[in-house]
Amino acid sequence: MPEEQAVVTRSEQHYIEDGNLFVRVQNTIYLIHRSTFTKRSPVFQDMFAFPQGDAVGVEGTVEENPLCLAGLDASDWDALLDFLYRPKPHWSLNELISLLKCGHRYQMQDVYDYARLGLTASGKSNLSPILKLYYGIICNNLEWISSSFRTVVGLPLNFISDNEAATIGLFLFRQVALARDEVMAFRSRLVTHTPAVIHHKRCKSRDVCDMSWRYIWHCGFLRIYHDLNEFMTSTKAEHELLGDTSCLHMYPSCAEATKKAVVDSGLFRNEDEIIQRYVSQWVRPQILAPNGAGQDESTQPYY
Ligand SMILES: [Zn+2]
Repeated sequence: MPEEQAVVTRSEQHYIEDGNLFVRVQNTIYLIHRSTFTKRSPVFQDMFAFPQGDAVGVEGTVEENPLCLAGLDASDWDALLDFLYRPKPHWSLNELISLLKCGHRYQMQDVYDYARLGLTASGKSNLSPILKLYYGIICNNLEWISSSFRTVVGLPLNFISDNEAATIGLFLFRQVALARDEVMAFRSRLVTHTPAVIHHKRCKSRDVCDMSWRYIWHCGFLRIYHDLNEFMTSTKAEHELLGDTSCLHMYPSCAEATKKAVVDSGLFRNEDEIIQRYVSQWVRPQILAPNGAGQDESTQPYY
């Protein structure tokens, strides 16, 4: 088996001579203290409550038969051991993500909370929107989820790398694509459904007013609204475009009343409602509580 042939080396940092638990993560062997983990992690408590063994002995008691931890990288495990054995004041983004993953996986609440706080403080400028969405779900951070889902939906799909798509999984990627389709369909309907002009009683040339408004709607407003690289929020559309758009050739009172009617109708807010519907129906339920509450294998695409 290829796994058997891999070169396994001892960790330089975390092979503690008086340790009593051998752990293997990928191709690195660690020697650590079993009690450090059983005291802090119910997952490890359960693991040792029903020890697995073979002819060589109980897993983890000898180097030849280490406790093998699958599903995480050695760098994740290194970060966790650094946190437990050699805490430091500053952690890189990748280290914080590793701590978050380990804290979540092994139900170590203090590790999880520490990483979550660190990511909340530093992540806004560092995480890509798709990773912010992903870690927002893991961190149970609704602000991250809502804002990053909106950003992601507004991006062309080719902005999402293969790795990022693999990270968030097929289910979430599909929700992004479906929401995006719905938003684009909504925007397309706006093009073909120009709101009616509210004419003032003193308006003398309704035809000119109507034509001018259609022009403004199609060319001025929607040209920007349909820019796929610039996700126009409803607030921005209302304020910048309808608020400031010059309505040359329209009778001023007609222009004012018509703009106000469009804003009051909440037309643009339909787009926000699409986003929020997806977030509340499909994205938020993906949140996994670190204590394992509500977890269900069939709806758990992450771990
Ligand atoms: Zn008019």
